Amino acid sequence: MKKVRARYAPSPTGHLHIGNARTALFNYLFARRYGGEFLIRIEDTDVARNVEGGIESQLNNLKWLGMNWDEGPDIGGNFGPYNQLQRLDLYKKYAHELLDKGFAYKDYKEGSEDYAIRFKVPENVTYSFDDVIRGTLKFESSDVEDWIILKDNGIPTYNFAVVIDDHYMEITHVFRGEEHITNTPKQLMVYDAFNWEYPTFGHMTIIVNEDRKKLSKRDTNTIQFIEDYKNLGYLPEAMLNFLSLLGWSPKDDEEILSKEELISLFDEHKLSAAPSYFDKQKLAYINSRYIKMLTLDELKDLTRPFLMNQGVEIKNELWFESLLTILKDRLNNGAEITKYYDEFFHENFNLNKEVLNEIKDFDNETLLNKFLELIETIDFTDSSLIEQVIKETGKQTQIKGKALFMPLRVATTGELHGPSLPVQLSLLGQDIVKERIKQTLQILKGETK
Ligand code: GLU
Repeated sequence: MKKVRARYAPSPTGHLHIGNARTALFNYLFARRYGGEFLIRIEDTDVARNVEGGIESQLNNLKWLGMNWDEGPDIGGNFGPYNQLQRLDLYKKYAHELLDKGFAYKDYKEGSEDYAIRFKVPENVTYSFDDVIRGTLKFESSDVEDWIILKDNGIPTYNFAVVIDDHYMEITHVFRGEEHITNTPKQLMVYDAFNWEYPTFGHMTIIVNEDRKKLSKRDTNTIQFIEDYKNLGYLPEAMLNFLSLLGWSPKDDEEILSKEELISLFDEHKLSAAPSYFDKQKLAYINSRYIKMLTLDELKDLTRPFLMNQGVEIKNELWFESLLTILKDRLNNGAEITKYYDEFFHENFNLNKEVLNEIKDFDNETLLNKFLELIETIDFTDSSLIEQVIKETGKQTQIKGKALFMPLRVATTGELHGPSLPVQLSLLGQDIVKERIKQTLQILKGETK
């Protein structure tokens, strides 16, 4: 078998989109699975659509996701250059070869010496290829009109350049979006004209949104660019894992898979032709699973920028670590740290009726006064001391269970539920806790009058 060579061939028209990232990933996994090579080629011939910084952004995001390549515009290689606009001589040479052999003709611009080169589509030919994902696909030449391969400005069209490059770069396998199925007959004509061997094609399934419509860049309900996920504190390993499941599934049901596992499990015959649903809940779940695997230091690095951006004062590293210990299991992404911080540590303290109602039957005054007295002398940075004081309060007042914990939580946080109370109180700090309890006692007095 020939050495496997697969490529990702983006047009630099914007940031790395989920669909493109998935295309890159499947080619990458395939190449690595078979010990082959993976390269990046920039298809920048649609000059009007190229955006400034588009290539860098694509490459940076692919790197962030954990993919690496053996050849590409940034690192070169034996088959370069890897930008199509730098390969114009090559396309010109081959276009003229087709002219000379009668497979193409000159199409003059009216009243000018300039001409485009147009491919002469042969009559009554059936083109067919075996798609790895969809089986044999057939096309009739009568459905295709003569088409331009080289424009009068010397720039090739996609369907021509892609063939020259895939042949020249010795590409053996092409996995790409299903929107390219209809382009394939034009490409096969060029392969045939030169008597070149086709690569193996696999046209991947579309990705659909909640409404089962093809994910489109205009669909504002779904975040679609890798960069945006990065900025929200998603982890690259989780994104890579999630992308791998868009139109592919491993043999057994285990879906949390590292890059190395994906490479060893990747099987192109398990690629599906059925639309793949972009399941946001699944992405959140996968990311939360990877967040749980982080070390404390990694978790700090992930969440710190979000807290800082929000203007949250990180009192000290110990404080930060306690905060993360109690919030870690709730996080679906890094940005959510501020949501939970606000939920559990908001500065405005107010007790609403509903919450007060839940504790109205307990002996709150005795309890809260005793707790106030006992916390006076302890070191609040140590949550285990707070835990002891809660127990001691219970013992001395003979109050137990819900009657003990619920009023203490309500009086200090204004909430009925939350993470570990001793840690939460320690994080809030002694002054705030005392202040809130006093306030609650005032409110309770008012209520009973
Ligand atoms: N530049 C094309 C695209 O971005 C690549 C298509 C192909 O892989 O042949 O869709």
